[in-house]
Amino acid sequence: MASIIESAWQYLITNFSDFQLACLGSFFLHESVFFLSGLPFIYLERAGWLSKYKIQTKNNSPAAQEKCITRLLLYHFGVNLPVMIFSYPVFSYMGMRSSLPLPSWKIVLTQIIFYFILEDFVFYWGHRVLHTKWLYKHVHSVHHEYATPFGLTSEYAHPAEILFLGFATIVGPAITGPHLITLWLWMVVRVLETVEAHCGYHFPWSLSNFLPLYGGADFHDYHHRLLYTKSGNYSSTFTYMDWIFGTDKGYRKLKELKRVGAEEDNKEM
Ligand SMILES: [Zn+2]
Ligand SMILES: [Zn+2]
Repeated sequence: MASIIESAWQYLITNFSDFQLACLGSFFLHESVFFLSGLPFIYLERAGWLSKYKIQTKNNSPAAQEKCITRLLLYHFGVNLPVMIFSYPVFSYMGMRSSLPLPSWKIVLTQIIFYFILEDFVFYWGHRVLHTKWLYKHVHSVHHEYATPFGLTSEYAHPAEILFLGFATIVGPAITGPHLITLWLWMVVRVLETVEAHCGYHFPWSLSNFLPLYGGADFHDYHHRLLYTKSGNYSSTFTYMDWIFGTDKGYRKLKELKRVGAEEDNKEM
């Protein structure tokens, strides 16, 4: 397995320059993972399949879904791609490399866990600031246009917020100067995680059922459902920041009410 990955990597680095791989390669990889993981939820919502796992009963109109896609394409080409190009010198200065040998899986895993913790921390505080009156009105309300989120709404935001999110995502890699393959893996899992958090469905196989401290769709959907001053649940990935700083009280209360309600129902049956 390792040798297959190494020879595929060898092919990439002999045929493309570092710049091409880090900028265009990253952009292409991001677009593929984002749309391939997000689009199925649009069709799921339209067809009404698996609706018993849908968190909210409300559905988005096809027009609202299409508006999201057009805006995303515009921002991805107009904001994300230039950011990837302009941040390349920073990454190469910090020692990012694409050469063989590939890093060991232990290094890759440690770095990605570190990026997740750091991103969640930066995101939590930045997100709380985005919920202050002026910034909410002029910037963050764009992301909250969709009170019933679906996978692709995860990246639907004001350009200023995209820059902030981009910062939270790349600050970890920027300070550790990882191998390009680590950066790509990080990007892939981070995109899958945020698409899942916005997907609008809580399945029996959802990761949050098995991973302690992991927020997932149920946790973030609550954030979108409520009025911006009351929403809470500001973290991107984990639940502990909101727990430590007491911004998950409403959510916990609701969960408790649901649990008690379910127990009462069981008793009656
Ligand atoms: Zn928010
Ligand atoms: Zn969101």
